[in-house]
Amino acid sequence: MTDWTQHAQFDGPIVLIGFGSIGKGVLPLLERHIGFDKAQMTVIAPDDADRALLDERGIAFHKLGLTIDNYIKVLKPLLTAGGKQALVINLSVDVSSVAMVRLCKELGALYIDTVVEPWPGFYTDKRLTVSQRSNYALRESMMDLRRAHPGGPTAVTTCGANPGMVSWFVKQALLNIAEATGFDASEPQTQEGWGQLAQQLGIKGIHIAECDTQRAKTPKPRGVFVNTWSVEGFVSEGLQPAELGWGTHEKALPLEGQRHDFGPDCAIYMLRPGAGTRVRSWTPTAGPQHGFLVTHNEAISIADYLTVHQDGKAVYRPTCHYAYHPADDAVLSLDEMAGQQWERQATWTILGEADIVDGIDELGVLLYGHAKNAYWYGSQLSIEQTRELAPYQNATGLQVTSAVLAGIVWAIENPTAGIVEADEMDFKRCLEIQTPYLGPVVGAYTDWTPLTHRGDGLFPEDLDREDPWQFSNVLVR
Ligand code: NAD
Repeated sequence: MTDWTQHAQFDGPIVLIGFGSIGKGVLPLLERHIGFDKAQMTVIAPDDADRALLDERGIAFHKLGLTIDNYIKVLKPLLTAGGKQALVINLSVDVSSVAMVRLCKELGALYIDTVVEPWPGFYTDKRLTVSQRSNYALRESMMDLRRAHPGGPTAVTTCGANPGMVSWFVKQALLNIAEATGFDASEPQTQEGWGQLAQQLGIKGIHIAECDTQRAKTPKPRGVFVNTWSVEGFVSEGLQPAELGWGTHEKALPLEGQRHDFGPDCAIYMLRPGAGTRVRSWTPTAGPQHGFLVTHNEAISIADYLTVHQDGKAVYRPTCHYAYHPADDAVLSLDEMAGQQWERQATWTILGEADIVDGIDELGVLLYGHAKNAYWYGSQLSIEQTRELAPYQNATGLQVTSAVLAGIVWAIENPTAGIVEADEMDFKRCLEIQTPYLGPVVGAYTDWTPLTHRGDGLFPEDLDREDPWQFSNVLVR
């Protein structure tokens, strides 16, 4: 048995909501790095496929789904038992993050999740406008709670790999670019300082650039949605509008681009689903690739965090969005689903560690527009390394669960921070905890731009040659 570093001790009740690909994967990391009493831990989920893992550890399991009607009745006794501060780890789908945080605030409990999740029905509610069912709106619902109840017990919102870890990568990447291009590479101490650093470096935008090459042992059957993490989660966000943090260097809104009429106005949305919207991007393994512009919290939070204001006006902001090339089977699954006018396949599979032959999840941030053009910084975690590092998960899962671990440790170490996003946490401390689980973490500069090899004359294209990094060049039309 290895001597794992215990990063934190937690003496109160722990409630884990959801026990799917991420919930299952976080369990061994908690056991290794957090001192806690398993007799005080409870897992809640409506399906019990993996409950043997809990039974063999003496962890209580409640087989039920939380609903708007039952969650207070179910959670309150669990979170108040014994009188010590409790911790809620929400790794479910269909459970409102805002409702969970509100309850945790009332009861003084710590909280963490990886996505601002709504109650069921939100994503497909046709009574809502496209703006109202955006991720921007979901994030604002969490920020409204923060504005109404500042401070209090720490609630870490949207802290997985992305959203989550990638916000920490952005900060490290900014320091690396500063060092490589002759700027002051000392760490800014304020949000404003980070924005100013990005502005000085000339960062026009940031892609969350991911290429998942994990390959299944069995070819994808027709009519089955296959993914390396939650199919329900991916389909839900894929059917939300494509959304992006909107940079101050952008000359014009894209066709179908719209602004929100509430909140900080740091992001725009498009009148089309992210799963049907492709963008040009770059990762070290793939080189140039088309990724899906699926909406994500970090596209909005990073853009918001790095905005520089003068006299109340935004004078600098980077464009920021996801450029996701999921596992090939997931690309095929989306293609099939798009053909059915976005009716999801009746059956689905999440590829577990044992279902995968080979591949890596290459997940990082591509910062572009600066003196050295573009810089990708991120994790290249392979399935083989994942098997050596931790059980019950694939490479995608471990990038997420190790970020959840880092977020929990940070919350225990900073228990009165109120509602926080990953951008606002101590990125060095979080990466220190997480990095042992990320495989190679590398930085790579590239000469590639969205104009590379374009305009060769075969077909007419409307390109902005003055500024390769305009979103109009990035978007695949
Ligand atoms: P999954 O589909 O494998 O598992 C979801 C779990 O939630 C299952 O155990 C399911 O039974 C449970 N659940 C469903 N309805 C519930 C309810 N009403 N009450 C309690 N539990 C319920 O999903 P996953 O891959 O483990 O992902 C979990 C969450 O993490 C999702 O919201 C997903 O979007 C998010 N996620 C975030 C990141 C990130 O990097 N930020 C990455 C992957 C997943």
